Amino acid sequence: MMDTQPKRLFGAIEAGGTKFVCGLGCAETPELLERVQFPTGDSPTRLLDEVVAWFLKQQERHGALSALGVASFGPIDLDPRSPTYGFITTTPKLAWQFADLLGPLRRTFPHLPLGFDTDVNGAGLGEARWGAARGLEDFVYVTVGTGIGGGGLARGQLLHGLVHPEMGHMGLPRVGDDHFAGSCPFHGRCWEGLCSGPAIAARAGLPAEALPPDHPAWEMTVRYMAHALMNLTCVLSPRRIVLGGSVRKGGLLGEERFFQRLRGAFREVLAGYIQAPPLTEAGLEQYLVPPELGDEAGVCGALALAHDAWAEHQRRSAN
Ligand code: ZN
Repeated sequence: MMDTQPKRLFGAIEAGGTKFVCGLGCAETPELLERVQFPTGDSPTRLLDEVVAWFLKQQERHGALSALGVASFGPIDLDPRSPTYGFITTTPKLAWQFADLLGPLRRTFPHLPLGFDTDVNGAGLGEARWGAARGLEDFVYVTVGTGIGGGGLARGQLLHGLVHPEMGHMGLPRVGDDHFAGSCPFHGRCWEGLCSGPAIAARAGLPAEALPPDHPAWEMTVRYMAHALMNLTCVLSPRRIVLGGSVRKGGLLGEERFFQRLRGAFREVLAGYIQAPPLTEAGLEQYLVPPELGDEAGVCGALALAHDAWAEHQRRSAN
């Protein structure tokens, strides 16, 4: 007998600082039926027109969407009561400062449930559903690339609060006699200012991908990273840390060796203080891990956000 239940279709948008990835999927698996990417560029209006047009075309080809999910770079306004809800706010990407990201989508699809969250909460949700954090209700997802951000789940809920966590901007103790001034325009030597891709390039005079494995900038990066991850473990007590983004690929050092060195430095800074099996030398192999969805974590996360927005809408309509 044929399956007469048509699959629900969900739209996903990973809004990144360098590219927007749009996808269409059924959200039962992370596989996408359709996928496209656009350079972010410096005209939010033009880009959002393209994104909207792409989804309208997909609806013609595949049928109506049930919900849309957007996982965005930030900072973003997540407060539905705020007049700038759905806006990107104080980003250093000047053309995108106070850009209305959700507005064009809401105007085009006024009745569609919309899931909206940070790129890292989105990617974290994707990893929780289909990837390296399956079955975990308390974990952190961190991306270290052009910038540094963190999200994840606490007791099964995405991390929110006053706004959303800004883990990448935590202050870190100076390592040795390091004189690097840091590259964050707001704080100089915060985590992002010390370990993001541009920070590594500014420190070494070479992009991270081109750094020889024995370049001292790797050692500095690993040691600062270890401090930052220890802070996350001390503050949030995550059961696992999933580390995504480009820097974790380790350039010429390679991902495996990067993670080995990071786990070693992490154990060193923890100094045996927290006693838990995942924090032992063997346990760390499963505690500090790369994303299973790899570079697709963001768009898959947006798909999961869309699915959850739809489920929430169904729950509310039933009450
Ligand atoms: Zn900063």
